[in-house]
Amino acid sequence: MAESFDVIVIGGGAAGLMCALTAGQRGRSVLVVEHANRVGKKILMSGGGRCNFTNTGTGPGNFLSANPHYCKSALARYTPADFITLVEKHGIAYHEKELGQLFCDESSKQIVRMLLDECAAAGVRIETGCSVERVAGGDGGYVLDTTLGRFTASSLVIASGGLSIPSMGASGFGYQLARQFGHDVLPTQAGLVPLTLSGTHSQRLQDLSGVSFPVEASCNGQSFRNFMLITHRGVSGPSILQISSYWRPGDELLLDLLPGEDAQVWLREQRQARSAAELRTVLGDVLPKRFAQRLCEAWFASKPMRQYDERELRDIATQLQQWPLVASGTEGYRTAEVTLGGVDTRTLSSSTMESRHVRGLYFIGEVVDVTGWLGGYNFQWAWASGHAAGEVV
Ligand SMILES: Cc1cc2nc3c(=O)[nH]c(=O)nc-3n(C[C@H](O)[C@H](O)[C@H](O)COP(=O)(O)OP(=O)(O)OC[C@H]3O[C@@H](n4cnc5c(N)ncnc54)[C@H](O)[C@@H]3O)c2cc1C
Repeated sequence: MAESFDVIVIGGGAAGLMCALTAGQRGRSVLVVEHANRVGKKILMSGGGRCNFTNTGTGPGNFLSANPHYCKSALARYTPADFITLVEKHGIAYHEKELGQLFCDESSKQIVRMLLDECAAAGVRIETGCSVERVAGGDGGYVLDTTLGRFTASSLVIASGGLSIPSMGASGFGYQLARQFGHDVLPTQAGLVPLTLSGTHSQRLQDLSGVSFPVEASCNGQSFRNFMLITHRGVSGPSILQISSYWRPGDELLLDLLPGEDAQVWLREQRQARSAAELRTVLGDVLPKRFAQRLCEAWFASKPMRQYDERELRDIATQLQQWPLVASGTEGYRTAEVTLGGVDTRTLSSSTMESRHVRGLYFIGEVVDVTGWLGGYNFQWAWASGHAAGEVV
């Protein structure tokens, strides 16, 4: 005998739990099916264990999607302030780190606890360690065969996330189901991910692993100013993670190593004020010394400032502000925070997240072709899209 519910949510992550508790609060009977041994694993590991749960400045411009308008309605109807109200109701202390990013003071476990408490209060049933073997039906009647038996529901919500961090339970299951029900899936790619270097670039920087400094990274019309970190395999840090979502192999990626400065004016001033100082010493005052040293060994010839003519200073300034970073690739899904691409939004309703092909089928969270910047935007999309579906399922 199959057990029946009004709503079945596949995936007990951020979006799935928000959808489940919202639907449960409306009196719907809800089952969450999670194949991992516990729910909310990515929430637990997020934000270095403190969960950057939202960003107070969230707007549609902070997201990548083939349809940039798609996220607008859900984001407008469930805002960062709504989630903060929930966090405060549960007495969870938080702080702003920078740029509107809100983190728990203590632990991301508190966010999972909060979602589970809300689910319990709303009568949501959660089954972990439950794998879906087959989904049949459609148009308002779904049958799921799982390792825990057969379940049926009139609404089916796919909240199974993207492909990043497979060791945490990520799977391509949502894309498979989308295709089963006639939806297009746009090509997926690792996003918010460290970039790898090869060849000369790699050889010249490898032993500087751990060196970090502010840069402005630019690619395909987008720029991010924040720290860059040199790693054993290439580069990482917030500016690189952000720009990685806009970079494709072969694309030009430029770094401004002196963001906010006019390098040519600054170099001229240095030549005037410290004419006997070598370029490497001068650069070592504004960049990490080891990196400045390496720049002068491998890229610029260092000599006393007074010996540079105007043309040489201009060339150095241009290189400092438009330093071409030749990335060979990304570290891939193993370390990526998100997956770009996913279920094509053209065949989903932006107000309810429901399929336009099949009644009662919903897609929410990261499985959809909506990907946020680094900084709490991805969770805000998970909460907002989960809430939008939870109000109508
Ligand atoms: C290391 C790391 C740190 C991050 N930090 C932040 C941060 O601080 N702030 C931020 O905004 N974003 C952060 N993110 C991104 C954020 O975690 C995701 O965007 C968000 O979790 C997406 O929510 P979701 O519910 O769509 O998917 P998920 O949270 O990934 O949940 C999907 C769930 O579905 C389950 N599932 C998958 N396949 C199946 C299946 N076949 N059957 C049943 N269940 C299945 C998975 O096990 C998982 O529990 C981080 C990501 C990573 C990897």
